[in-house]
Amino acid sequence: MGKPTGFMEYERKNRIELPVEERIKSFADFHTSLPKDIQRQQAARCMNCGVPFCQSAMKIDGKNVGCPLANWIPEWNHLLYLGLEEEAYRRLEKTAPFPEFTGSVCPALCEAVCCCSIHDEAVGVRSNELYLAELAFAKNWIQPKVIKERNGLKACVIGSGPAGLACAKRLNEAGFSVTVYEKNRRFGGLLMYGIPNMKLDKSIVERRIRLLEEEGIKFIGNIKIGYDISIEEIKEKYDEIVFACGTSLPRGLNLEKDSLEGIYYAVDFLSMTTEDYLLKRNFTYDLKDKRVVIVGGGDTANDCCATAVRMQAKDIIELEITKEPPIKPTKEWPYYPNQKKTDYGVEEANIVLHKDIRKYQTTICRIYGKDKVEGVRIKKVESVIENGKMVFRDIPNTEEDIVCDVILLAMGFLGTKKEDLRRYGMKDDSFIVSTKGHRYADHISVCGDMKNGQSLVVLAIKDGLDCAEEIIEKRVCKKKT
Ligand SMILES: Cc1cc2nc3c(=O)[nH]c(=O)nc-3n(C[C@H](O)[C@H](O)[C@H](O)COP(=O)(O)OP(=O)(O)OC[C@H]3O[C@@H](n4cnc5c(N)ncnc54)[C@H](O)[C@@H]3O)c2cc1C
Ligand code: SF4
Ligand code: SF4
Repeated sequence: MGKPTGFMEYERKNRIELPVEERIKSFADFHTSLPKDIQRQQAARCMNCGVPFCQSAMKIDGKNVGCPLANWIPEWNHLLYLGLEEEAYRRLEKTAPFPEFTGSVCPALCEAVCCCSIHDEAVGVRSNELYLAELAFAKNWIQPKVIKERNGLKACVIGSGPAGLACAKRLNEAGFSVTVYEKNRRFGGLLMYGIPNMKLDKSIVERRIRLLEEEGIKFIGNIKIGYDISIEEIKEKYDEIVFACGTSLPRGLNLEKDSLEGIYYAVDFLSMTTEDYLLKRNFTYDLKDKRVVIVGGGDTANDCCATAVRMQAKDIIELEITKEPPIKPTKEWPYYPNQKKTDYGVEEANIVLHKDIRKYQTTICRIYGKDKVEGVRIKKVESVIENGKMVFRDIPNTEEDIVCDVILLAMGFLGTKKEDLRRYGMKDDSFIVSTKGHRYADHISVCGDMKNGQSLVVLAIKDGLDCAEEIIEKRVCKKKT
């Protein structure tokens, strides 16, 4: 199947990107799909390997290998190559509930283990996925699925991020009457408010919400469960409750003066910026002409960089506590490669500021300022294993003072806030994180980042689907037998 020689004939081509100088002028998505004939060639690069790791949905050494949704990648690549686009999309939708999201923001775990990548570049699976998803919307192949039979059970999903949406979609298809509650004004969780518009246009998120509404799911925004409505009230109203609240506790600096004006959690900064952008009003946290220090080196830090560049920050420094990864991957196929990457936001900042903005093995040890942050002292650290745990030790005589106006904290999340847990009637979240299934108590389930800690959109979707399957198995399948 596929084109037997496709991987030797065609080079990998990614979606077309606007040049950095152009794209940083706005918060609009800067990608365009490849023309149809080129996209078909990209699909033809797939060898349809006998043992396709790309769709394996496995874990090796605790790391996800292959697509967590077990998408039937070689099949839809082949159909796309043949020009059978609708058939290709129909295969894709069998396992991927929101391919327009994963096709845009997934780090493509499938591509990391694609057999083509052993000797050449991986097949561009993610761009093929997005091409099919967007084509399906454009050609109206995606229509609301009318649910013929309701099972008489009412389910409440708390949180409208990818986990909550996937869980709600599956429960709805199984006949539950589903209501999604969201504390924010807009739905989508981090798809709406964390991931910036240039990476995932918010109209794409809204389009999916509309479709889910048309399929019968009720969405209620601006209500924080446990605060605006008590959990007891929810328990009385619904037969099943799913918590899909994400992670509400960002990691802080834990230093003196760490709450001075000018120090913001990245997720607050990014959320507010998206809201300001969508409402076409002035930015609440405007970084124009500001010297910005970003603490953290992951996806969130990268999105902060891209946002700071678009706001015309005067200077940006990104502090990453871990060691600089090698240029060449150290782990061999099919492990997820440990390799230095320059994501879009850092790339833009490096070009605009004519330097590499990243400082590795570096963290903040002191904050300067009276009412507002005025600067920081940074130091170099090295990671060592102590009692089986990784800890960071100072490297002497490496301190340096830096003048800055804003610090953005993008150091990950620590789980759910204690007060939130209390309001949800939960003791602590250690049970949530450690347990394998999704049941927290009778008729109460937990899924997504709230259960597993910070992860990825595709993993949150998969966890939401698994959570729904568990509920269906308990409430619907058992009833029938
Ligand atoms: C800045 C940033 C960028 C990221 N970029 C990527 C990326 O490019 N690719 C990728 O794969 N992953 C990315 N991630 C990770 C990904 O977004 C998350 O793993 C994923 O969104 C988790 O989904 P979730 O549904 O579990 O939680 P969330 O998306 O966090 O959604 C939880 C929802 O629950 C709501 N909620 C919480 N408490 C209540 C309550 N009491 N009542 C009502 N509603 C409530 C919240 O408002 C929120 O809308 C990024 C994360 C961040 C922070
Ligand atoms: S969801 Fe992610 S891992 Fe799965 S096929 Fe799409 S890009 Fe690959
Ligand atoms: S591993 Fe790569 S080449 Fe093989 S089937 Fe999957 S996408 Fe195609």
